[in-house]
Amino acid sequence: KQEQPGELGEQQPKPDHGEDSYDGHGRLAGRVALITGGDSGIGRAVAIAYAREGADVAIVHLPEEQEDADGTLGYVRDAGRKGVSLPGDVRDEAFAGAIVDRTVDELGRLDIVVLNAGYQKDRDGIETLPTEGVDRVFHTNLYGMLFTARAAVPRLPAGSSIIVTASIQAFQPSPTLIDYAMTKAAQVAFVKALAEELGPKGIRVNAVAPGPIWTPLIPATGWDAEKVESFGQDTPLGRAGQPAELAGAYVYLASDDASYTSGSVLAVTGGKPL
Ligand code: NAD
Repeated sequence: KQEQPGELGEQQPKPDHGEDSYDGHGRLAGRVALITGGDSGIGRAVAIAYAREGADVAIVHLPEEQEDADGTLGYVRDAGRKGVSLPGDVRDEAFAGAIVDRTVDELGRLDIVVLNAGYQKDRDGIETLPTEGVDRVFHTNLYGMLFTARAAVPRLPAGSSIIVTASIQAFQPSPTLIDYAMTKAAQVAFVKALAEELGPKGIRVNAVAPGPIWTPLIPATGWDAEKVESFGQDTPLGRAGQPAELAGAYVYLASDDASYTSGSVLAVTGGKPL
């Protein structure tokens, strides 16, 4: 008997979205990428994919995550590319400038900047919003992005690409992530404004807006076990995404395939509308 579509479940090939799953085609050959938050989660998947597409990569990460950075760079070197680890804090203006200089010094040029370092924490209402916590979210997600972009732009040749990891939270803000959602909305405004400024120089600026992606950020957010357990199940695809399922979006936006795409927001949300 012919199988009904609904009965295919068990027999459907299960796509492999593990961190070793991205297969490259040399689409970024000869380019150099700087990825903030490149040791972990989404940034790690992007670093691996970029290396497999032929790019050398510098990854910026918090110093306490050196082991993760070394793991990511292992994949980069296995792909035959050069990798540089840049430990430090993007909230520090001097550091954000130094990472751009070090990338160009050690890897020779800079073509792709992925402004991805980010931080979020569960909030339980406006009345108890902690000033210090909000400072960390604002400074990491906004100043970190601004300082790095400001330092990078003078080093970017025509044809280069800046990509910001925004979030579905920019468009569908949750009260439990109120300060984080504000930063993500601001990042989208930043992308649109910067795309207009840099268009005449041939530099493209875009955002990726991920939906729920299973990364180390999620269990660390402070949600209760039930919320973590059900993370992503309210998407049309019924599950959270894996970081490797975002990699193609970042490769596309960095590559010449996206040569006429700037100021855009690419949703990778498991079907949730922005
Ligand atoms: P993650 O915790 O795995 O990665 C965060 C990265 O940011 C780490 O590499 C960390 O070292 C770096 N970082 C944080 N603060 C920093 C600082 N002050 N200086 C330097 N580096 C710093 O989390 P992730 O989920 O991969 O997050 C990456 C980006 O994706 C963030 O901007 C996040 O807001 C965004 N995002 C995540 C999701 C999700 O569901 N995971 C959804 C939408 C958007």
